[in-house]
Amino acid sequence: MIKMEEKYTKAYAEKLDAKDELKQFRNEFYLNNDTVYMDGNSLGLMSKRSEQTVYDLLDSWKKYAIDGWTNGERPWFYLSESLGEKMAGLVGAKKEEVVVTGSTTVNLHHLVATFYAPKGNRTKILADSLNFPSDIYALKAQLRLKGYDDSHLIQVQSEDGQLLDEETIIDAMAEDVALIVLPSVLYRSGQILDMEKLTKAAHERGIKIGFDLCHSVGAIPHQLHDWDVDFAFWCTYKHLNGGPGSVGALYLNEKHFGVTPGLAGWFSSDKEKQFDMEHSLTSAQNAGAFQIGTPHVLSAAPLIGALDLFHEAGIEKVREKSFQLTAYMMDLITYELKEFGFVICNPTNEKQRGGHIYLEHPEAARICKALKLKGVIPDFRTPSGIRLAPVALYNSFKDVYNCIQILKRIMKDKIYEQFSNEREVVS
Ligand SMILES: *Cc1c(COP(=O)(O)O)cnc(C)c1O
Repeated sequence: MIKMEEKYTKAYAEKLDAKDELKQFRNEFYLNNDTVYMDGNSLGLMSKRSEQTVYDLLDSWKKYAIDGWTNGERPWFYLSESLGEKMAGLVGAKKEEVVVTGSTTVNLHHLVATFYAPKGNRTKILADSLNFPSDIYALKAQLRLKGYDDSHLIQVQSEDGQLLDEETIIDAMAEDVALIVLPSVLYRSGQILDMEKLTKAAHERGIKIGFDLCHSVGAIPHQLHDWDVDFAFWCTYKHLNGGPGSVGALYLNEKHFGVTPGLAGWFSSDKEKQFDMEHSLTSAQNAGAFQIGTPHVLSAAPLIGALDLFHEAGIEKVREKSFQLTAYMMDLITYELKEFGFVICNPTNEKQRGGHIYLEHPEAARICKALKLKGVIPDFRTPSGIRLAPVALYNSFKDVYNCIQILKRIMKDKIYEQFSNEREVVS
């Protein structure tokens, strides 16, 4: 039995680290010794594997020039598909259902351009009021292209401004809804939506549904194929550690293989036919059809190494440690920071809790600046949110301990008062 107080000591954090089955992965990453990095849900850290695969890719360019498309260890012509195959397990897809291409926003445009087919009274798109702005801009733009205004976008409201209720979303699946696009994990509160339940409800009403996995991929397991999700899309620079601007990815349910891609280009082609250079497209009979033009090979290179680490660790193990890290962090926040007015706004239960902790505090902007001054990298979300992401592959329990100790010191000594309570340009 551990005594209550023991749980809040540095020795206890060290004990948890000693037992951590994933602890050796920390050595795979470039961590700055002077900082505690808690922002892996915005930009994951660089790994040595990624660095190596970028160098390997550069070498293949140096060595093969144009022949690099078909020669060498990783021929560039097939890289998007082979990386998709490598990523499929992380989202619970078959290997041909995933391709690495585009970016979150471009892939969303592409999938909506394909699957949003307003007909008769079914003309609306159903989304939510808490999603990341880029998704909403894209949905509104797609509506405009079809001649509709913003009133055709239904955004399900949140009662408390933090969480969404699946039943409320299902109630909004009315007869005039043609398509549904929702996040898997809300980017602020970290709430996981019940994708299986929502997909089932949508299909019962004859509506197609897709999910944005930006905040869940690499943090939690998914079963997109078994849940029968129609499509999904995500970025690779957050929990997947693909580096700034690394190429995004998408999932296409195999039942939609053969659909005409809405934003077709020559890379949508069946690979055998592509260089026939015909003017009528024979599109690939898999997710690869959702590529447009020449792949961003250099921006995909870090992913080769980054995904190897997930294969070695296993997403189930990653999730298990992530649970332990966030549970530990919430314990410490409750115990150490109780007098300072923080509110834990992420769901605390395991079913709905994603990979990060979300705190609200009226002084959040300047508390984040003080955290940075003291060596903790948080993520500020206007107007009063602080996201802290202890990442399973490279953060330790001691990182969590140190983070909360530093935050406590900042609050006790009012270190944040030396800053203005406004956000920076990039936050
Ligand atoms: C990170 C994120 C994006 C970013 O889109 P990009 O096209 O990669 O810039 C979009 N949507 C959500 C929900 C995100 O979390």
